[in-house]
Amino acid sequence: GTAPVLLRLSNVEVVYDKVFLAIKGVSLEIREGDMVALLGANGAGKSTTLKSVSGLLAPERGEVTRGHIEFAGRDLGTMPAPQRVHLGIAHVLEGRRVFGHLTPEENLIAAYRGRDQRRYLQLRDMVYGYFPRLVERAKSKAGYLSGGEQQMLAIGRALMTEPKLLMLDEPSLGLSPLFVKEIFGIIRTINEKERMSVLLVEQNAVAALNVVQHAYVVDQGRIVMEGSAALLRQNPDIQEFYLGGS
Ligand code: ATP
Repeated sequence: GTAPVLLRLSNVEVVYDKVFLAIKGVSLEIREGDMVALLGANGAGKSTTLKSVSGLLAPERGEVTRGHIEFAGRDLGTMPAPQRVHLGIAHVLEGRRVFGHLTPEENLIAAYRGRDQRRYLQLRDMVYGYFPRLVERAKSKAGYLSGGEQQMLAIGRALMTEPKLLMLDEPSLGLSPLFVKEIFGIIRTINEKERMSVLLVEQNAVAALNVVQHAYVVDQGRIVMEGSAALLRQNPDIQEFYLGGS
């Protein structure tokens, strides 16, 4: 497309424990309105790449980021994570983190950063519009929701921050194929209707390539392949070499 670049990683490296190079010069681009997947096997460096963007790496714990990350025309440098949320970067962590002892609505309230009651209600209703199952489960504590419903709530919490970029780490993990299809379809609709860019991290390449336009494949900390979803779907190497077969 010709939309402006929203996120650009140039030669990003992340070191853990001061010595272990988990990603080794990752470069990628996401344009406004794009829906892009980052695919790869367990341990390839997908989660680390997302953390470098959302700022969840801690130099004081020996987690060092090198290279450049630019978002909406700004160099993120060492900007703290909360400021990145404010700029419009939302990161839904692997394992659907929700407050299990709170109801879905209380979870959404807790995720809203602003002070405008009317805006809160608009955002909440947008979330309920995309995920009507959450309305049905409004009175249950989130801990009693199914895995798929908790994933929906985790995404809903991210939407409450009004992101320009929604980053999702393995939303399909542990869900039935039917639920994966439902959630991926909703994410695609959000991408189109809200013109929200999406970066989807997935081991489930087949499902991801059915919803994104473009994908990158990461292996041992490096981007080893990139292209349109249509092209990558036809590429036999993807399954065999980079995604742990099947
Ligand atoms: P997964 O799906 O398992 O999360 P991934 O592709 O997201 O896989 P990462 O979690 O980014 O991979 O991990 C990349 C490499 O960095 C792996 O070898 C992993 O063991 C290592 N690693 C991840 N987190 C840390 C950490 N906090 N300290 C040290 N090494 C880490």
